[in-house]
Amino acid sequence: NFPSSDRYSFQNFIVGDSNRLAFATSKAVSESPGFSYNPLFIYGSSGLGKSHLLHAIAQETMSHNPYHRIEYLSAEEFSNIFIDSIQHNDQRNFRKRFRNVDILLLDDVQFLKNKTKTQEEFFHTFNALYSLNKQIVLTSDCQPHELDGLEKRLVSRFEHGQIVDVLKPEFETRVAILRQKRNSMNVHIPNDVLDFIASNIKSHVRKLEGALVRLVTYASTMGYEVNASLAREVLGGQLENTSDRNLDITAILRQVAEYFDVGVKDILGKRRTQSIVTPRQVAMYLSRNLTEESFPAIAEQFRRTHATVLHSCNAINEQMELDPSFKDKVFYLKKRLENL
Ligand code: ADP
Repeated sequence: NFPSSDRYSFQNFIVGDSNRLAFATSKAVSESPGFSYNPLFIYGSSGLGKSHLLHAIAQETMSHNPYHRIEYLSAEEFSNIFIDSIQHNDQRNFRKRFRNVDILLLDDVQFLKNKTKTQEEFFHTFNALYSLNKQIVLTSDCQPHELDGLEKRLVSRFEHGQIVDVLKPEFETRVAILRQKRNSMNVHIPNDVLDFIASNIKSHVRKLEGALVRLVTYASTMGYEVNASLAREVLGGQLENTSDRNLDITAILRQVAEYFDVGVKDILGKRRTQSIVTPRQVAMYLSRNLTEESFPAIAEQFRRTHATVLHSCNAINEQMELDPSFKDKVFYLKKRLENL
C-alpha cells in the first residue's frame, strides 16, 4: 500500500542541513530495521519530506529483503481501520494485520490526539512490535512532548527512540530540489528561473514543486518561453512576501537576549563567560538558520570572524545532539521567531 514508483526514493531525496539527520536515520533504519533507531520519530511542518522518507524506507527495505512485511499508513487510516474492526467485530483480524509486520510506518501521528480508544490499541500494537524488535517509524507535525491529547505512556514510548526533525530547506537545497524536478519533467527551464522561485518560496517543498509545475503548464499551454518575468507574472500570488516576513538579525538578537536575560550589547560585546557565550552562539545559529544571510554577513553584524560564526553554529548543533533540553530551548526560540 505504497507507491511503487521511485519518485519517493532516497535517491530522489535532496539532502541539506535541514534534513540531513532525518535522511541518515531513515536510511539506517531501512538497512537494519528494528536494530538501529527504534522507534524513529520524524517531526516537522507539513510538506517538508516526512512522507517521502517513509516511502523511501519502505522501498529500500523491500529492495534489501522482499519478504519483509511492511505497513505504511497514516494515523487517520489506522484509526478508521480500527473503528471498522470494532463495527464488524473483527478485532482479531485487525490485530493480526498490525502485530505481524516487520515494519510499521505511521504517518501524521498527531491524528491520534484525543482518540483514546485508538491510542490504547496503538499502544498495544506498539508494544507487541517493539518487544519483537520490529521497526516502528512515526511522523508528526511536532515533537512528542508537544502532542497534547496523547497519552503520556505513548509519548514516553516515542521519546524512548530517536527523534529527528526536518526543517525548512535552505536556499541551496530548494534550488537542488527544483533542478531535480526540472530533470524529471524533461523541460527546458533556465537556472535563473529556478533561483527566482527558490528565493521567493521558502515555506515548504510541496509549494515549491507546485509553483514549478504551474509555471511550466502555463508556459506550455500558452506557447510561451519560461523565463523569470513570466515566473513573476504567473506565480505572483504564490510568492511569499519576504520583505515584511523576513526576519532580520536585529530581531533575533532582541529575542535571544530577552530569553536568556542578557543585553544585546553583551551578546555583541567581548565578554566570554558562559552565560553570555551561549546566547551569543544561539543567536548566530538562529541567524544562520532563519535568515538568508551568509556567514560573512552574519559575522559582520556580530562583530566577529566568519570562522567564529561557523564554529558557533557547529557548537550549537553538537550541544543540541548531546542535550535534548537545550535543543528544546533552541527550538522554542526558533518557533517564537518564526511566528513573529
Ligand atoms: P510531509 O509528509 O512532510 O508533509 P511530503 O513528504 O509529502 O511532506 O513532501 C511534499 C513534497 O515535497 C513531495 O512531493 C516530496 O517528494 C517533496 N520533497 C520534500 N522534501 C524533499 C527533498 N528533500 N527532496 C526532494 N523532494 C522533496
